[in-house]
Amino acid sequence: MPRMQGKRIVLTSDDTMMSSYHGGVMLGFAAIMPRAVLPDWILRYFFCPPVPAGPDGSAQIAPCGMRKVEAALLDFGFSKDEVIVAHPHHLDRAIGPRTEIVGITHDDPMGKIAVRELEEIIGRGPPHNRSKFLALINHPLIREHRPKIVVGGNGAWELMDEDVGVDHIYLGEGESEFPRVCSKILQGDPVPRVIRGDAVPADRIPINRGATIAGIVEVGRGCWRGCAFCSPTMRQVRHRPVESILDDVRVNLLNGQKDIILHSEDVLTYGSRGMETNDELVLKLMRGVKRLGPHTIDISHLSLATAHQNPGLIRKVSEVVGVGSDQKYMSAWIGIETGSCRILEMHMPRKALPGEVGRWPQIVQDCYRLFDEESWLPVASLVLGLPGETAQDVVKTIDLVESLKEYTGLILPLFFTTITGTKLGGTKGFGKDDALPEHWQLVGLCLEYNLLHLKKLHSLYKERMSAGPVVHAALTGINLMADIVLNKYMKRMKRGEPPN
Ligand code: SF4
Repeated sequence: MPRMQGKRIVLTSDDTMMSSYHGGVMLGFAAIMPRAVLPDWILRYFFCPPVPAGPDGSAQIAPCGMRKVEAALLDFGFSKDEVIVAHPHHLDRAIGPRTEIVGITHDDPMGKIAVRELEEIIGRGPPHNRSKFLALINHPLIREHRPKIVVGGNGAWELMDEDVGVDHIYLGEGESEFPRVCSKILQGDPVPRVIRGDAVPADRIPINRGATIAGIVEVGRGCWRGCAFCSPTMRQVRHRPVESILDDVRVNLLNGQKDIILHSEDVLTYGSRGMETNDELVLKLMRGVKRLGPHTIDISHLSLATAHQNPGLIRKVSEVVGVGSDQKYMSAWIGIETGSCRILEMHMPRKALPGEVGRWPQIVQDCYRLFDEESWLPVASLVLGLPGETAQDVVKTIDLVESLKEYTGLILPLFFTTITGTKLGGTKGFGKDDALPEHWQLVGLCLEYNLLHLKKLHSLYKERMSAGPVVHAALTGINLMADIVLNKYMKRMKRGEPPN
């Protein structure tokens, strides 16, 4: 086939999703900044450099979800001549007259999730993730050849009420229906605008065919804790067999990745359907991954309640991974969400199990102490403005964050967003105009905490990152600039005033 004809099915995303982030995934958060504050060239060179490209314009590393969809299409019977995971800067080699479907995977296409308040705080135009997504779907080759655009991934729900020129929105697990949807589109059969994919049995989640960004390897899907605002909880809990997980680790290492991030909603409950941990199986998995020889192993995500229930497991995992010897530290993504037991009871009644809801702040503090002892770096989320939250609830979260200040990590305060299909899906989201003085104090406090710890995190991450000294020097400079620029906002917010 002549190259310019393009592939029939092109899987891709924009620059904010298709980046190596210099080996430090947290740099990807820069995508939430507007262009007026972070110009394109700074975003591209220092935060979201493009993934490497193959000679045929393919992306050599890609988001894990996109890799799963690619694998499902190949397993379904499509050939490699028909399907490509395309590099967004080389779409000229992938999209042509033969292209009938462009499948886009995105976590936050309209910028509705990640630290949405920044857009409102800064007030300097749309964030990069939204503008780059819109630029992608308006790419000249897509306009010229008019393939059907199907958007899937964690953020696809954001497009439900948007009229931006997307043909189909795919909600749910891609492997279940996407190959059949492609088949129908290629045959000219009707396909609804919104498609819902079912849960795929764990042993039928396919093995990736190429490396994933940050070496992310799926361990399982779903969460039983049932938090009212959360979408993973809508998925049934499943864990993949150890061998399939190790196969995905092997694919990553064979294709150039050196670091592995194990992903599920609670990696510590691997192999368990509820709150009891299966220590033997978790350690078998960890030993298996370690034996394959990655430079580092990290975890995304784990439940604080599980860690609190079984601190011994954290210590054993540390030992197997070699935290403190083979790798200096281990990062783990966690959800604190609130310091108010009342809000926890109202919207996350199972969050602390088997611990008591009333002990949540203590559980969080105990875990931070444990993480500190074991050299684990927590990256935590908070949810601000959940329905019914009062000033007193926010003060409790402020007190909790204050008590964690000495521990290294990051804390991301997220405005509550209504996600279609969740228990709170029909309620109103939270915005700048709803914020109480206490909310601004909390955002200011998190900003202060993050600016304080970012420098340490940068120096810790330095040796892992693929970036050269120029990028590191620039990042140090940007860090200092952020200190100066954000300081005035931080001070204002800490006084309980809106940032602008
Ligand atoms: S514990 Fe985390 S993943 Fe599970 S339902 Fe709650 S917010 Fe979602």
